[in-house]
Order: sequence, then structure tokens, then C-alpha cells
Amino acid sequence: MTDRYASFVQSAAGRALVKRLGLPDPPRLRRHHPGDPLLAGPALLGASTGGRLAEPVAKILTAAGVELADPAAPAEWAQDAPPARSHGDTPQRYGALLFDATGITDSTELRQLYDFFHPQARAVLPSGRVIVLGTPPQECPTPREATAQRALEGLVRSIGKEFGRGTTAQLVYVTRDASDAGTRTSLESTLRFLLSGRSAYVSGQVIRVGGGAASVPADWDRPLDGQVVLVTGAARGIGAALAKVLARDGAQVVALDIPAAGDALAAVANDIGGTAVQLDLTAPDAPTRLAEHLASRHGRVDVVVHNAGITRDKTLGRMDADRWDQVIDVNLSSQERINDVLLERELIPAGGRIISVSSIAGIAGNRGQTNYATSKAGVIGLVDSLAPALRERGISVNAVAPGFIETRLTARIPLVVREAGRRMNSLAQGGLPVDVAETIGWLAWPASGAVSGNVVRVCGQSLLGA
Ligand code: NAD
Repeated sequence: MTDRYASFVQSAAGRALVKRLGLPDPPRLRRHHPGDPLLAGPALLGASTGGRLAEPVAKILTAAGVELADPAAPAEWAQDAPPARSHGDTPQRYGALLFDATGITDSTELRQLYDFFHPQARAVLPSGRVIVLGTPPQECPTPREATAQRALEGLVRSIGKEFGRGTTAQLVYVTRDASDAGTRTSLESTLRFLLSGRSAYVSGQVIRVGGGAASVPADWDRPLDGQVVLVTGAARGIGAALAKVLARDGAQVVALDIPAAGDALAAVANDIGGTAVQLDLTAPDAPTRLAEHLASRHGRVDVVVHNAGITRDKTLGRMDADRWDQVIDVNLSSQERINDVLLERELIPAGGRIISVSSIAGIAGNRGQTNYATSKAGVIGLVDSLAPALRERGISVNAVAPGFIETRLTARIPLVVREAGRRMNSLAQGGLPVDVAETIGWLAWPASGAVSGNVVRVCGQSLLGA
């Protein structure tokens, strides 16, 4: 599960060899530690003419302790932010570049993106952040504006591939009517996530924010305080990392796994002061037993994380029906059955969350994984269909789609295929279970209630399915 090549590349001898031979150069990624500042340097914030988000974004950044470095910023939205220190003749370096592109209503105005990013393209610190803010094209009043807003995706995805050194780039579409408190709060939670080391392995993503209630946490370092969170498949891998991250952020974690994984599950639950539930999710009575457990112990479940998953790989012609059935049942149908019972019994309250783990195999397809890819694409369908249906109940539904993550699952892949999988992304390395956990954590925060219906890839901007 260790990436020996990446460790070698980060040594002095490794650096010399990589340079000489032009080998892949995986950077050391900045990951989150409680108490860390959001950024390693000041943020430069720019805005298109008539942009509607520069002012709220400046306020969010300032409140989050980010130093703003925009000498040209109009005084009214930069006034409570002290300008970045002058470095004399030393060129300024930025922890992040943010651009409010919501004022762009025609393709001819896309030039404003070039004018902002071109002079700064080489001024971003390692593990820096690029964030472009736009209006969802389907909400634009004219075809020209929708076209220009859609064009932002190409810029962001290319910057993700171009800037290097661990810098990530994202496009955040914020609903046109962003005046409601929920949307503002979720814009803040999203920016805090994307700027921080929590999003180390998320790049080239398009995230939609808007519509839905959200509450500001008393402490942004414990954004899940008091929340009851169920994590399935919590005995190891991504699920164990999830339990840890969510507990660190303040959640009361109910960790679930099959009885055969009981010892490992108990160790995870003890480590974080959570509780363990031994249950096979495919058992006919699993949904009711789980619902009864949650009702009697906690009276509710604020966040449901469907993480448990299996693979049973074979090319379709060689696959027996059992392999097909098991994978669809664990990865998809059991999630539906559990959602149905928890929703029917009203155990997920308003402000609740359903978060599923999909996979880039569900987006790109994968040889030997027709069953798995079908189940994981189905998870995306579940998000698409359930998110609008549950909006009125104040429950958000999202999924994350991991790419190559360093776990037992990927350690079993033959060496050559594994090396290819690891490097075929903009960050030239595999992600860690904690990267998936941090992304799910952000979606789970009460502050992220206006983020719903999203499928966020945690794949280092993998070339697969891009
Ligand atoms: P893992 O095999 O290490 O862990 C999965 C856990 O789910 C195990 O503890 C297992 O016992 C549990 N589980 C399986 N069937 C269950 C059942 N019927 N009832 C209850 N628990 C059950 O896998 P992982 O790599 O940590 O993956 C976690 C999730 O992420 C899965 O949904 C997987 O498909 C997805 N994913 C992983 C990767 C990756 O690179 N590792 C990539 C994309 C998606």
C-alpha cells in the first residue's frame, strides 16, 4: 500500500534522476491537520466586470483567516481585509488564485480569465489552489451567457493539468439567487474544504452549490459536532479512515461491518469512541435491524455514509451469475433498501445527509468490472433521482467517486497495471483513504446542506472517464 516510487522521487537522488530522465514527478501533497491555516500563502481574488460573488467570497476568506492579496480590489469588498505584505522586489507567491467569473455573459468576455490568470500562472505556491466561480449554465437567462459559463470547465480542467506541483483547480457553480443564508453558508463550507489540505486529491471538479438549508458550525475545526453518523464498511480501508476523520470532526460514529470483520470493526470503534454494529447489509432483515438499532440508541441518524463495497472481477463472458448478483446487491440494492426504511421511519431528520461511495469505474467503465461499474453507475443514478426528491425534506444526497486509492483492494492489482493506474492522473500518484474521507466529511457538514446532487471525484483528476 506504499508508493515506493513517490518516496524515492522525493529524495535528493530521486529528484536528480527524475529531472534527467523526464520521469513522472509526484509532488508531496499538502494534507489537513487540525489547526492548520487554510492556505500556505495569501489568496489573490479577481472578479469579472459585474461579478456577483467577489464581495461574499472576500468576506468568507477574511473570516477564515486568509490573507487577501488583491491590490486592485475595489475598496468596498476588500476593506475589512488587510492587504498582503509588500515583499519589495520579491515577486509575490500565492496560496490560491480565485476568480469570480459570474459577470461573464458572452464568449468575447472570456478574455477576462486570460487577463487574470496569465500573469499569475507561475506565481502559485506548491499545493496551491485555483477556484473559478460561475453561474450554472442552465440558470443563465441567455444562450450566450450559458455558453460562456459552460466554457469555464475547459479552463479549469486544463489548469488542473498544467500548473503542477500539487496545485488543484475546481469550478464552483453557485446558484443565481445566492442571497439565501443556506447557499452562502454552503459556499463558505465548500471554499473552506477546497482551499484546505482536506481536498488534496480532488482536482478538475465541477461543484454545484445552491438551494437548501445549512447551518454555520460553532467551531469550523469541529464541523460535525453532535452529529450521529453511520458508516458502512468501517472495519478497514476507506471506511476506517472515514470513521476516524468524522470522529475527529466531532461526530458520534456508528461503525458497521460484517460479523466476520468484528475484531477489526471493534478496534476502529474503540479507537474513536464510537459504537460498532455487526451486520451483513445483504441480509433480508438488515434494514429493519439497523433502523431499530439507530432508533433505540440515538433516536435518529443525521448522516448515512454508504461506503461498504465489494468487487468480484471477471470479463462478462466468464462471469457467473453469483458474481453479478453479489456486487449489485452489496454496492447498490442494499443502499436502496436501507434508504427506504430509514426514510420511511423518518429516522433521517431535516438537515440530514445521504452520501454514497461510487467509483470512477462507474463513470469510465472498466474491463473485467461490468458488475462493479454497473453498480457504481447506479449509485450515481441514485444521487440524480433521490437528491431532487428529498430536497423538500431538507435532506441532501451526494456521492464521491474515488479513483486510484492506496488500499488493500488496489495493492492486489498486478504491478504494471497498478503503476499505470497510480500515475494516470494530474497529481501522478494514488490517493489515500483519508482523501476520500475528508471529501465525504465536507459533504456531511451541517454547513454543506446546500450542496446536493453532486458526484465529486476524488481521483487526482484521473484521465479515466475525464
Ligand atoms: P475494502 O474492501 O477495504 O473495505 C470494504 C468494507 O466493506 C470491508 O470492511 C467489508 O467487510 C465491508 N463489506 C463488504 N460487504 C459488506 C456487507 N455485505 N455488509 C457490511 N459490510 C460489508 O474496500 P475500500 O477500498 O476501503 O473501498 C471502500 C469503498 O470505496 C467501496 O465502496 C469501494 O467500491 C469504493 N472504491 C474504492 C476504491 C479504491 O481504490 N480502493 C476506488 C473506487 C471506489
